Amino acid sequence: MSTTQTPPVLAAELAQAWADIQRYHPELPDLAAPESLIGESSSACGHELSFERLLHEAVHGIAAARGVRDTSRAGRYHNRRFLAIAEELGLDHPEEPHPSSGFSLVTLSPEAKRRYRPTIERLQRALKAHTAATSADTSRTFRGPAARHGSSGGGVRVKAVCDCGRNVRVVPSVLAQAPIMCGGCGKPFRIPEIVGAAAS
Ligand SMILES: [Zn+2]
Ligand SMILES: [Zn+2]
Repeated sequence: MSTTQTPPVLAAELAQAWADIQRYHPELPDLAAPESLIGESSSACGHELSFERLLHEAVHGIAAARGVRDTSRAGRYHNRRFLAIAEELGLDHPEEPHPSSGFSLVTLSPEAKRRYRPTIERLQRALKAHTAATSADTSRTFRGPAARHGSSGGGVRVKAVCDCGRNVRVVPSVLAQAPIMCGGCGKPFRIPEIVGAAAS
């Protein structure tokens, strides 16, 4: 049972990879809720979880720290200010901007791939293990209402916020299972303690 609970491990690896980025970019605020990135299949920020995707999130983090508006059209369009910071972090966007998501699909430059190679490999292993564990979990037989109820934690609800200003109250373990997307802007809700602390 507890062997299928890999999200905490992956979340820890994501936090570690984020810390590795912070070593090169000390102005980058802490990652509020790495769990919110896990299990997200698609958003304006990219399609699947990877180090590249994490570095993309770091661009938003640095933009927020600098007070730069790096997206428009309710958070979907990644503008040239986003691209400028992305390039500082070692991301390229060789193609024309996408009509609706702009410069969202940035890719790792060869230099960034070299710099972060140990980080990329470690995160890749954690992602593989996570995928293997979660696909095994969904193929298991029906566990019954008691088990499902138990798996949602039944914990205390906390406020999760979206960049656009909306908020919801969620049990953190429920948010950890899969992101809860904001219908207003398409971004995931995050539990804000750490971001709030870093921003003040
Ligand atoms: Zn984005
Ligand atoms: Zn929103």
